[in-house]
Amino acid sequence: MIGILYVFIAMCGLLIGSFLNAWMWRLKVGKSVMCGRSMCPHCGTTIQWRDLIPIISFVLLRGQCRHCHKRIDWQYPLVEAWVMFACIGLFAVHGEQITTLFIRDIAVISLLTSVFVYDLRYGEIEDWMTVVPGLIYIPIALVLGVQSWLSIALGVGVGTGFFLLQYAVSKGKWIGGGDIRLGFFMGAVLGWPGILVGLLTAYILGAVVSLILIGAKKATGKSTTPFGTYLSVGTAVALLAGDYIIEWYLGFL
Ligand SMILES: [Zn+2]
Repeated sequence: MIGILYVFIAMCGLLIGSFLNAWMWRLKVGKSVMCGRSMCPHCGTTIQWRDLIPIISFVLLRGQCRHCHKRIDWQYPLVEAWVMFACIGLFAVHGEQITTLFIRDIAVISLLTSVFVYDLRYGEIEDWMTVVPGLIYIPIALVLGVQSWLSIALGVGVGTGFFLLQYAVSKGKWIGGGDIRLGFFMGAVLGWPGILVGLLTAYILGAVVSLILIGAKKATGKSTTPFGTYLSVGTAVALLAGDYIIEWYLGFL
């Protein structure tokens, strides 16, 4: 029985990953998610259902469009596989039960995945990935008792304020408005003190990756980094391991 549940969760993960890919592409080219079928970005041919099966179609087509034979982006199978493994992992972590927190975590990880990919590829963060879900999340979390209002208020205050301050001091040079709105989403979901773990993890990760890139001569000290990519990883780490990290840290005091 539990095996069937795992297969079901894995399939849900593949479908969510497939949806995220289509969603990001449509956000970029400005099409509604609901209308119109998926088509090849190179030749514009409508993609048939048999070529839309997550991962399997990519393998069978050897990563090429059936019609124009141009390469299908690696983003597609990677996002699908990642969300599938994330869903399986979250299901295990949440005691193999479909709980409110399990569904919340899947939704948050899915949104963070889209922020990660979108900011990395296009250097932008869409409000549909941050502000809008944050505003929907807060009342639901309060009604269901997932978080206290004080935790959310402090989280949002720190998350938004931290980036607003940098934006004001640098007159918008260090960070963009999208980062402020991502800070709001981070604060809402992580609350207090999780927001601190999320921000700190993102900055440590950003510093380490920048040093590696500079060391490999792939970047200079002046290169701009898509910071939403680091923030999304930091948020995921804080969401899943924030309590352990805070406990571990307090152990030193
Ligand atoms: Zn094509």
